[in-house]
Amino acid sequence: MDLLAGLDRQGEVAVVGLGRSGIGAVRLLRLAGAAVYASDGGTGAGVQSAAATLRATGATAEVGGHDIDRIARSRLVVVSPGVPPEADPVAAAIRAGVPVWAEAELGLRALRGIPFVAVTGTNGKTTTTAIAGHLLARAGRRARTAGNIGTPLTEVALAAERPDVMAVELSSFQLHDMPTLAPTVGILTNLAPDHLDRYRSLDKYYADKMRLFANATADSRWITNADDAVSEACAGTPAGTRERFSVTGRAAAWYDRAGDRLMLGDEAILPRARLPLLGDHNVANALAAALAVRALGLTAAELAEGLASVAALPHRMEPVADRAGILWINDSKATNVASTTVAVAAMARPFVLLLGGRHKGEPYRSLIPLLGRCRAVIAYGEAGPLIVADLAASVPVESAGDFADVVGKARALARPGDAVLLSPACSSYDMFANYEERGARFRAAAEAP
Ligand code: ADP
Repeated sequence: MDLLAGLDRQGEVAVVGLGRSGIGAVRLLRLAGAAVYASDGGTGAGVQSAAATLRATGATAEVGGHDIDRIARSRLVVVSPGVPPEADPVAAAIRAGVPVWAEAELGLRALRGIPFVAVTGTNGKTTTTAIAGHLLARAGRRARTAGNIGTPLTEVALAAERPDVMAVELSSFQLHDMPTLAPTVGILTNLAPDHLDRYRSLDKYYADKMRLFANATADSRWITNADDAVSEACAGTPAGTRERFSVTGRAAAWYDRAGDRLMLGDEAILPRARLPLLGDHNVANALAAALAVRALGLTAAELAEGLASVAALPHRMEPVADRAGILWINDSKATNVASTTVAVAAMARPFVLLLGGRHKGEPYRSLIPLLGRCRAVIAYGEAGPLIVADLAASVPVESAGDFADVVGKARALARPGDAVLLSPACSSYDMFANYEERGARFRAAAEAP
């Protein structure tokens, strides 16, 4: 098919950003015969070598800045997920009336015809996408996960082997620029305030999420969260079939708490204890993924088999060591209070909570009602004093210095039968390069003799 069908303008395609997504986009455009001008504001070794590689495909590639006039004259601008909408090249394109597409729009155009589940929402996107991909693969489908979860869609489109089905994670930024998105099944996990650093208002953020439903038809299938009034209200009544999941009451997929099992309507599919993930939030993620892949033809037996073999994703309620009766859980991805809330709510045993890092603006007091089983909070990093101020009247709190001190204090306080939970509610940038490094340090400490 013509990758660029529907565009009225002529000329070059501009690709903004030369990371992995930008590289995929340029390659795909060159294969389709388009003239390409690619640029990146950075000058690091990574972008330099990307530019050299892309020049070899016949593209023009520039590093250390963007030729704004050239971009404003282009036929189309393709943006990488990391490029904010207010970045100069994108803003100039919008002013000049040049269409802007997310790299994922281009990738999905090249993959048209392959059924896919699209997952968006504030929390649980990566986990739900990974579970859906796992269920499909376990059922014998040639499945790929793609998008925000890791592999750019253009890269999937370039691979020699095409998948038969995909699970695609999409952020609100990507959805903003995907005019022809039409998933076979779309999942909206939940909505909560987030990214207020990148959006002028919450309504704008929610509006981008709702782009998931923009091209709904009678054949569309949607999965939404019966427990989340905000996303239910925002989703409205898109065309197509809608199924809901719930961990609090009956729904198309639901958690029967009394029977302690996962249900599809009246059918029990799995005892809760056989789903190897911690927390009700992960039950919700599993139920959403199960509904989506059932819509793609998987049987209840395939769902049960697949759900029983999912593994926690790294840095997301991931048990990393079980030593001397103490379970160490790495939830380093919890970089806001909402995600730490679901983590502490999941704790079935006494626990020591490691809380801290770079403060993101939200108070920590909302955690107090959930800290009944918390033996102690270790407060550290830039947010340490704020955490002490918010929590010390209600929960035992100890301050710690560097991360070795944090872990040492946790080890000293935890007793056999306890957990040590790293769920920091803060970003990691005051002490680490990113949340992955923070989680890796925690794992190494947990595994140390
Ligand atoms: P996302 O890709 O949307 O950021 P992840 O699956 O990576 O979501 O999970 C990020 C964090 O959000 C996890 O550490 C977990 O604590 C929390 N989380 C995961 N699923 C949910 C959910 N369904 N509802 C609320 N919080 C969740």
